Amino acid sequence: MTFAIKCLDCGHTAEYYPASINCPRCDSQWREAEYDYKAISEIFQRETTNRPFDLWRYRELLPVRNPVPSLRLGEGGTPLIQAVNLGMMLGCPNLFIKDERQGPTGSFKDRQAAVTIAALKEAGITEMVAASTGNVAISYSAYASRASIKLWAFVTSLVPAVKMREIALYGSQVVKVTGSYDQAKQMAAEFARQRNLYLDMGARTITSIEAMKTIAFELAEQLAIQLGPSVSPDGNSTGAWRAPDWYIQAISGGMGPIGVYKGFRELQQMGLIDRMPAIAPIQAAGCAPMVLSWRRGLESVEPVANPQTHIETLATGDPGRAYKILRKQVLESRGTFESVTDEEAFRAMHVLAKMEGISAEPAAAVAFAGLFKLIRSSVIKPTDTVVINCTGHTMPAEQSILGDNWSRNVVLPSGEEIPQDGLLAALNNVAPDRFPRVAVVDDSADARRLIRRILQSQGNYAISEAADGRQGLELIQRELPDLVILDIMMPEMDGFAVMDELRAHHDTASIPVIVSTAKELTSQEKSLLKGQIQSLMQKGDFLNDEFLEEVRALIK
Ligand SMILES: [Zn+2]
Repeated sequence: MTFAIKCLDCGHTAEYYPASINCPRCDSQWREAEYDYKAISEIFQRETTNRPFDLWRYRELLPVRNPVPSLRLGEGGTPLIQAVNLGMMLGCPNLFIKDERQGPTGSFKDRQAAVTIAALKEAGITEMVAASTGNVAISYSAYASRASIKLWAFVTSLVPAVKMREIALYGSQVVKVTGSYDQAKQMAAEFARQRNLYLDMGARTITSIEAMKTIAFELAEQLAIQLGPSVSPDGNSTGAWRAPDWYIQAISGGMGPIGVYKGFRELQQMGLIDRMPAIAPIQAAGCAPMVLSWRRGLESVEPVANPQTHIETLATGDPGRAYKILRKQVLESRGTFESVTDEEAFRAMHVLAKMEGISAEPAAAVAFAGLFKLIRSSVIKPTDTVVINCTGHTMPAEQSILGDNWSRNVVLPSGEEIPQDGLLAALNNVAPDRFPRVAVVDDSADARRLIRRILQSQGNYAISEAADGRQGLELIQRELPDLVILDIMMPEMDGFAVMDELRAHHDTASIPVIVSTAKELTSQEKSLLKGQIQSLMQKGDFLNDEFLEEVRALIK
């Protein structure tokens, strides 16, 4: 084991003991683990490939001397999922989701808990204190129970009751603080000081940052498998693994990206990747001290005293020094900070679930809403490879964002045999037999699939497709749909010719048409369409909500 703890303020290096949290020379609490990267790089890649795909695969770069297998719950090793539909919708095909929902308790904090509890167990610590907005306490509780460590979890009263009960279920003592998260943190610190207990220090905890690094290790390995190792413009391999162009994560205290960035830096030092990704930490606008301070060019953070967001998980009003560290990383990597409203996050949560089959918690949806913003403002380019950290369970949120009428209810009379025709009559209320009909004419199978997917996410359209202009015209003349979605650039008979034919015949002349086009039309082409169509959609540039509004407006 070749690592030491280096002070970020005075540079003093000391041995690692989990319970000693201050620099022995200058008393600073901001320190980080430093390894003998040269020695490790000689064995790292070879050793890791022979191990199971979990976070202990990278144990040479973790601050636990002898990880005990009996404490494990399957931490790390989460899938990297390509978001094909979302990528198509946003015109940015290389979008990947690091699916941290698949950790043992459903959040990326499981990494932090697994590594921290392993280190505490190794050091003989039996009782600890942590303040949490929910997920950290759940993760710690699960791992602490396996390690027979007693956990005092200080949570704010805004943490959803389901999360509090889960913490208690693992045997932790829940201390509910009616106050802000920052106040809960202060109380936890005072409680730990009085009883001389180990206190989780968030982003200042060595094991937390070290645990988060494994996200970078995993995704660089996974990207190399999915996209191939990184290559220079002249085609030479420039590293066995591959860094994305962007790494996006929603933040509260900022620990996630700080650790992930350190992970990428270590991979670069060892020659496994050729460059650093740009980092984009995203905050909820109602509690965005880092974003506001970044925009004002401040070097130290100005805290937010009264967080105004429903996304409690992200309500760190005073991130303190973490901002400085993150700001430096964002500057170095040419990344950016961004904020989104709760509403934008809830919308993104819907889009993600409907387009990709992934239900994320609102905190993770903040990252996706940030992604949408950064792509729309061209900060992220269409050719960029982007990885978004996705975490969490939805249970507390569905109730508040789904609204009414999300289910169709069938109430059958009880206690008696129901005749067959009675069942059929009841089913008629479930799905009316005539849905609005939409014809999609596009020579790209991918585009047809995307449009079908967006329409189906609403569940109420009968969709038929044609793969070229000629077939499309026949389809429209035969079925007389309520709406046509028409591509312009198609071989043989293009969209303009289809339009001419439709308008020339009485029965098709009044069918509304939305033109979707992959290229920017010339002004001459636009004038050809003028008065002929209801709407023009640039492919890869429309978000499904806008598109659906258009569709709804045209089909009555
Ligand atoms: Zn020091």
